[in-house]
Amino acid sequence: DEVRRQFVSGSRLGEGTYAIVYRGHFRSDPSKLVAIKKMKLNAEFKDGITLDSIREMRHLCELDHPNIIKLYAVFTTKDQNISLVLEHLPRGDLEGLWKDHSIMYGGADIKSWSNMLCQAVWFCHESRVLHRDIKGNNLLIAADNTLKLADFGLARGFADPGRPMTSNVITRFYRPPELLLGSQHYGGCVDIWSTACVIAELALRDFFLPSETDLAQLSVITDVFGIPTETDWPGISSLRHWEVNFKSAAPKRPQPLSFWRQRLPLLGDDGIDLLRGMMAMDPAKRLSAEQVLKHAYWTNYPRPTKKEDLPRQG
Ligand code: ADP
Repeated sequence: DEVRRQFVSGSRLGEGTYAIVYRGHFRSDPSKLVAIKKMKLNAEFKDGITLDSIREMRHLCELDHPNIIKLYAVFTTKDQNISLVLEHLPRGDLEGLWKDHSIMYGGADIKSWSNMLCQAVWFCHESRVLHRDIKGNNLLIAADNTLKLADFGLARGFADPGRPMTSNVITRFYRPPELLLGSQHYGGCVDIWSTACVIAELALRDFFLPSETDLAQLSVITDVFGIPTETDWPGISSLRHWEVNFKSAAPKRPQPLSFWRQRLPLLGDDGIDLLRGMMAMDPAKRLSAEQVLKHAYWTNYPRPTKKEDLPRQG
């Protein structure tokens, strides 16, 4: 209650599937704008709200990085719902940006947005937080063109090794093969796969691995990356859904470099090399966020566009 009183809530900004978002500001400083996100939780979910989950969300308030949306506070409302008080970011999201064909951009711009994204992911992982839902419309743009990772609804700390986690997370197009195969022990590598999908879609101006169903998602992935054998990915055949998907499937080879050059010319060979490293099928072989930031792509020509020079919407 004390937390709630620190903010004044105003008119409605927008509505999503899980929340209604209101404009607001700090009571102590009306010039400090916020977005108040009131979750639309059903009864089942409300039961899931425990002191623990609130504590977990409050833990996210401590994540402080220029490329991560600031979460100022979390409070419960009178009707037993949850509200999040967030940094106000009214300039749309990255998916809206690549879909808007009145905006033109090139390889240097993609490098700049991608780098801000990778910095955010690195900071989350360094802080032992998995995002688990990285995608274009969870990447919001600030007034000064800074890209900010948002919507930590599914985020949680890294599980204790040995504690199973649900594999039904991450929007389908961005879901890595280990989750589709039913792995319950995963780490930061799931975010790295999703991040690579976002970089590819910036370059493609279309979804990179779109599919109609969960089952089809795995075949869209293997059309590009091939079907891994036990040698490519030790342990793959003990995953829960391996047998039904791969046991008697005809072998598929990964696409050659020429496929990548043809589909993603804006990334250049170094960008393609980075992307393929981030999309290793075997999560153990996938680049970590730290390795991603050390890749030559970032320092090679072209230099990333300066934030103030990035193209933007409206
Ligand atoms: P979705 O991701 O399904 O669009 P959200 O619940 O995240 O749903 O947001 C709903 C709408 O509220 C967004 O489309 C946007 O217009 C607005 N919104 C969300 N977060 C912010 C924010 N931090 N600052 C300003 N507007 C926001």
